[in-house]
Amino acid sequence: MKSWIPDHRNFAYLNWKQVDALPRDGTLLVLPTAAIEQHGHHLPLATDSLINHLLLGHALAKLPREQPIYALPPVHYGKSNEHLGFPGTLSLSANTFMAILRDLAASLAGVGFERLVLYNTHGGNTALVDVMARDIRAEFKLRTFALHGSGGAQLEGLNPQERAYGFHAGEVETALLLASIPELVDSSAYTVNYIADVNQAQDLRPESAPAIFAWLTRDIAESGVMGDPRPATAEKGARWLEQAAIQLARALSAMLKFPNSA
Ligand SMILES: [Zn+2]
Repeated sequence: MKSWIPDHRNFAYLNWKQVDALPRDGTLLVLPTAAIEQHGHHLPLATDSLINHLLLGHALAKLPREQPIYALPPVHYGKSNEHLGFPGTLSLSANTFMAILRDLAASLAGVGFERLVLYNTHGGNTALVDVMARDIRAEFKLRTFALHGSGGAQLEGLNPQERAYGFHAGEVETALLLASIPELVDSSAYTVNYIADVNQAQDLRPESAPAIFAWLTRDIAESGVMGDPRPATAEKGARWLEQAAIQLARALSAMLKFPNSA
């Protein structure tokens, strides 16, 4: 898997004596979580994993070198059962996914590490990552944080429909790959589908509302796309990457400094 994580931030490039020398409370370890799943006719299965490394790598590169923040090897597989039935989707069950996070946290807590970030770039993992951040905090001494996607960066110039319902393989994901690994984007194969219309009042929404319907991709989009990739450009992708990296770097710095009351 192509990675943009700076070598000096790669936890797995250290040997165990170097790891043993890291300050336990003063080191922030980031566990990326993503997915291997269908992304329409035009993006690769690894899209969420590539975007994770792209955004996290650029965020880490912005931080002062002396800050001890390391990226752990990623959990590439996620809970992707919304995309089952599309060949190439490789999904974990919720229980397996949560057990992997718990086991890795146990390994880190067992040698005294105290700060862990779960950095997630797949929507299907979001709820589980939030649950596990609290469970890991409760079970181990780890000060645990959850961080998602662009970290809340504003992504200038994205229209309201795409912002609300560009869930999957739409403009943002396509633009980020055009800016970073364009050979994996087939721009002759774009398709467009939306799960809902942002301008229409609805009693039930697909997500982020008090009343929601549980959706499966095959109910909505035969191609697997939920969003509109057509307006994506490499220029927009580069701009959004920069905005996200700034926001994520700020969040990581705050997590490194957050008081540990345990
Ligand atoms: Zn995706």
